[in-house]
Order: sequence, then structure tokens, then C-alpha cells
Amino acid sequence: MAKKQGRKPGQFGYLPPQHKFFLNPYHDARFTRCPKCDRPTKLRKKPLLILFKPPQPVSLNKTCRYCPNCDLLIAHKDDLDRLLQTICLQYFPDLVGNDYLVVGTMERKAWKEGLQSGSLEELLNTVHDFKQHLEFEPARYMWVKDD
Ligand SMILES: [Zn+2]
Repeated sequence: MAKKQGRKPGQFGYLPPQHKFFLNPYHDARFTRCPKCDRPTKLRKKPLLILFKPPQPVSLNKTCRYCPNCDLLIAHKDDLDRLLQTICLQYFPDLVGNDYLVVGTMERKAWKEGLQSGSLEELLNTVHDFKQHLEFEPARYMWVKDD
């Protein structure tokens, strides 16, 4: 049970928090450049741990944008909504369209072994909460017609 030590109040998983996270709500902004430092972002596939309301954890292996410079992980909300809807329709029809929070990432090994179907306690032992949830606005260009 040593892993539980150091878990802060409000923290979900038992592992140390990792990454900052941005759930991108903009359909027209894909953040191929980091909204923080403007460097190109990379694609990273990460097992995300999502908590629905009412509480129901769901894990999902999702390709995200990642800026190594800022340790910032970006997931597009429209992608996630679509994937979660498919999962919910199949497994949790009561949760379709409900609010959710992307809590953090799961250890890849645990995700592959399918621990998400084990007990909640087992699941928590494999979860890194995000260090921080951030919000950004896409850069907008003003287009002024000159006639
Ligand atoms: Zn950056």
C-alpha cells in the first residue's frame, strides 16, 4: 500500500501526477503548434482515464498532441466525445452525453493488460492524475477588407 502515500486531497490516482492537460473545445483549431511556446507539437498515443458523472471511470487509448517543451498534452474534445459516445452506447448507455473529466493517464502496461475491468482500487494504482488542467484560446487572425 506504499503507493498511496503522497496522494493529495482531490487526487484520483495513486501514482505521482504527470503532464499538464488541455481539452481543446475548438473544432477549427488543431494545435499543431503549442499554444504556450509555439513550437510544433508531436503526436502521442496515451491511455487516458476519464471519469463520468455519475462516477464511472472509462479508459481510452487516444492519440493526443504533445509539447515536450511544456510537458503539455492536448486532446481534442470533438474526437473524445465521439469515441466516448461509441463506448457508452455499447457499455454504459445511461451515460451517453453526460459530463466527464479527463483525470489523467494510465500506465500503458496496465491498460494493455485490461486492468480497467478489475476493481477500482486496482485501477487507481495505475493512474497518474494530470498536474494541471489548462485552457487556451486559438490564435485568431483579423481579416480587414480594404476597399
Ligand atoms: Zn510548448
